[in-house]
Amino acid sequence: MKDLATELDKLNEKNLFRSRRVISSAQQIEPVIDGQKVLSFCSNDYLGLANDPRVVESLIQATSNYGTGAGASHLITGHHACHAKLEEELAEFLGCEKVLLFSTGYMANLGVVSALGSHNSIIFADRLNHASLNDAAIQSRAKLSRYKHIKMNHLEELIVGKDENNKLILTDGVFSMDGTIAPVSKLQSMAKKYHATLIIDDAHGIGVLGKLGKGCTEDILVSETILVGTLGKAFGTFGAFVAAKQEIIEWLIQRAHSYIYTTALPPAIAEATRTSLQLIKTESWRRENLQELIEYFRESCKRKNITFSDSFTPIQPIIIGNSEDTLKVSEELLKSGILVPAIRPPTIPQNTARLRVSLCTLHTKEHINQLTHALERAISKLS
Ligand SMILES: *Cc1c(COP(=O)(O)O)cnc(C)c1O
Repeated sequence: MKDLATELDKLNEKNLFRSRRVISSAQQIEPVIDGQKVLSFCSNDYLGLANDPRVVESLIQATSNYGTGAGASHLITGHHACHAKLEEELAEFLGCEKVLLFSTGYMANLGVVSALGSHNSIIFADRLNHASLNDAAIQSRAKLSRYKHIKMNHLEELIVGKDENNKLILTDGVFSMDGTIAPVSKLQSMAKKYHATLIIDDAHGIGVLGKLGKGCTEDILVSETILVGTLGKAFGTFGAFVAAKQEIIEWLIQRAHSYIYTTALPPAIAEATRTSLQLIKTESWRRENLQELIEYFRESCKRKNITFSDSFTPIQPIIIGNSEDTLKVSEELLKSGILVPAIRPPTIPQNTARLRVSLCTLHTKEHINQLTHALERAISKLS
């Protein structure tokens, strides 16, 4: 075995050692973390639903009715009426034929990519895709060809003339560390032109983007793609789903190992998620407010000469470059009671270490003023 102590020391020297913070309050704008109340800009709970009293109440009610655990996998006896209803409601909301629930987004990606790809397939993947899509591609044993981030001409160069008859294109909908949005309509045309199957993982877009909250695919014909969404982010609960044509969903039920060989989500989680879905549909103010905050943050950065990124989503990275400086800024912010995580390689490419600011609809403009003020000070201390 490797000498782990030495390996761990090396990570520490390179400022790449990771450790966990302990949260002791509910998920909220000002959680208690490591015993300190902080102003947080690092959750994926974009719509503030993770601690919404109505969602919480659904979970409590369903837990008293159905207990805590599903008890088995979906194909044995774990598939509950609560799951079936949530699947139907999600399909209707998104305008897809069928939806299949998975226990996590990571598992949904592993399941769908390895059930549809094989050693004689080829996968075209955006270079900045989420790790779970990359792992899924490797697990499928398909050939893997990665195109430059959202560069459609590069994708076309790679795909043209490839004779594998099973081609898959994999992309994040909203890129998790950059906040950029995939050009879904162009990707769809490309898939059509080259007879490829397009899989979009919209973990960060579902609930947030689009007037109705359907995500980055709201304005395209979603029935022609395979859409993956997660429930642990804007939905504020837990789990994930794949939305696709009936035939594809039936195939996943037969072949996706990460669906078949695992315990179903607790039914109460499905019930809580049904309530979240209702709130996503009816409380559009959550999205509108969030968009306003995103613009306000960008304007504040501009006024204060903080270099911000080309993102119009709640993910607003401030790229610092090296890991050491990024950690310094993050630590400096924490001294002022503000939590913004430092994201370092290998999560993102070398020399693009960054502070990943994520905004929530429950933030106020005053919170954003505090953040940009502290950022300005912390960055100026670097030089
Ligand atoms: C968070 C995330 C996932 C994983 O979802 P989980 O439900 O947390 O496992 C998958 N893809 C992307 C793009 C993500 O950001």
